[in-house]
Amino acid sequence: MATEFVYVDTSQQIYSYDSMTEDILQLNLGHEDILSYETIATTAQGRNVWLIKFGNLSSENKILITASIHAREYMSSQLVMRMLEEYVFNYDSPLKDGSTYRGHFDSVCFYILPMVNPDGVSISQFGLDGAILDSTKTWLSSISTSNRKLSQIKANSNGVDLNRNFPIGFGQGGGLTSAPGLAYYPGVAPLTEIETMALSNLIATNKFNYCINYHSMGKINYYGSNENSAENAVRCRDLAALVSSINKYKPRHCGVANGSFADYFYSVQNTPAVSIEIGTANPVPISQFSDIYNRNVPLWLVLSDLD
Ligand SMILES: [Zn+2]
Repeated sequence: MATEFVYVDTSQQIYSYDSMTEDILQLNLGHEDILSYETIATTAQGRNVWLIKFGNLSSENKILITASIHAREYMSSQLVMRMLEEYVFNYDSPLKDGSTYRGHFDSVCFYILPMVNPDGVSISQFGLDGAILDSTKTWLSSISTSNRKLSQIKANSNGVDLNRNFPIGFGQGGGLTSAPGLAYYPGVAPLTEIETMALSNLIATNKFNYCINYHSMGKINYYGSNENSAENAVRCRDLAALVSSINKYKPRHCGVANGSFADYFYSVQNTPAVSIEIGTANPVPISQFSDIYNRNVPLWLVLSDLD
């Protein structure tokens, strides 16, 4: 029998850092054998960048999942957490084909960063109240005091777009700005931010078979870049085709490397990554959640069965 879901709230637009943190603790409780959590960084505003490990915790087959590196794309955190809840609470229940989640996930460990940018998410959700430091409230006020305007933030609380702050293609690509702001400011140099440095350390010390990055604009599965190796370009294309066969979003090749996490991931790991854009507006309205969930929930099972 399916369990009643009581932790990850998918009925409200706002899924906050605090709610998510509570949910992580609840999912861990009684499931310590299949789910652990730790913090890989503490942000400027004092929030944790959580890393959840899920599945066979000692497996050397690792799959990296990231969500909400872009603040206003916070529905990706809700999606990842809701998927995790489904798997954890039905771990040994038979699925339609007679298999179990345990059977699928027993040979792999998922490394899940459900909210890479908790400061930015909090500002997108709560405006100035999402900032803790007075200095942050002051610079945010210089941009806008409107919650509606601040809801469009992609950056972290320093005004740096974390998905432009990595070394490969840094400063390349269109639309960049030259000062801290809500979006598209890459920072003065690569890896200046606590969050990007934590991600860099994570991929420097772990070998990942695959990486899925959750974003939320356009219902597209982005893959590859012009700075990918030839053999990994093929792997990326194949992974995107597989993801598209499941969620039915269109695959699309990224052109110029632009300092994104995916660009850096290719250069360090030489394994494939796909960035899934789950919605059609930012922040994605909660009315889109159930369609997004239903399209995307099978993916991790399929990934876990790959060689
Ligand atoms: Zn994004």
